Amino acid sequence: MSSRNVAILVALLFLRVTAAFASDKLIALTFDDGPRPYVLFGTNPDHSGLSLINVLDRNGVKATFFVVGWRLTPKTWGEPHHEENIGVTCIDAAEQLVRRGYELEDHTYSHIELRGAERKWGERWVIGDVDRGAQEIKAITGTQPIYVRPPDWTIPDDARRDLEQQGYHLLSISRSEPIALRDVNSLDYLCTARNQAACPKPSLADAVLKQVEQREAQGVYTHILAFHELSTTTAAMQELITDLKARGYRFVTLTQYMQLVDPKPATDNIH
Ligand SMILES: [Zn+2]
Repeated sequence: MSSRNVAILVALLFLRVTAAFASDKLIALTFDDGPRPYVLFGTNPDHSGLSLINVLDRNGVKATFFVVGWRLTPKTWGEPHHEENIGVTCIDAAEQLVRRGYELEDHTYSHIELRGAERKWGERWVIGDVDRGAQEIKAITGTQPIYVRPPDWTIPDDARRDLEQQGYHLLSISRSEPIALRDVNSLDYLCTARNQAACPKPSLADAVLKQVEQREAQGVYTHILAFHELSTTTAAMQELITDLKARGYRFVTLTQYMQLVDPKPATDNIH
């Protein structure tokens, strides 16, 4: 075969590959602030009630959990003031998530807002908080997490740059991020039982679908959806998954999503 024919063959193969990517409609479902055993497994002792894991498993959906490091310390089950102790620790819950094929990523150790933290304690504290969260996850999964979602998506620029240099990938809602890699803020934290009035109308699932449609109108068919481990979010999940599947979407973990959507080689230089 002449070199020209080889070039044409390569070009055709490339077109086929990119066409396959273009038709891939992907969702990475993500949940912040856990593990919260009472949300994951429900509050009924026989696990018959509303359970986020049941909904996801029933639908064959593998999600990614941005967990908070302090929860992954021995005997911790949550925050006594507004969470329920179902007799399952956060570490047990995290181990179950991993066994069932879910992914754990880093939402810092403290869950303290990082801009204020840097003003008070300096950049090294901020880097340390992200690293410490990563270490708690690594103790459970055996692997170093790469993805970091800072609380409220806020982090000072210098800390962001230095963490990226260490090999972390920071998730963002900033318009400077390519749209396919930009988090979709579901606003589900406005739908807690105490605060229903602020919840997006007509429903959380409809409001998220509307955001997906707005992105589709811009030619974007891959979406990272950012939720929280909340009972009210769990209640909306079946409807949302059903609707997205009916529109041809496939659910993947964040790592799979990034491999398909952003095929930059992942860095492996985190110490
Ligand atoms: Zn959070």
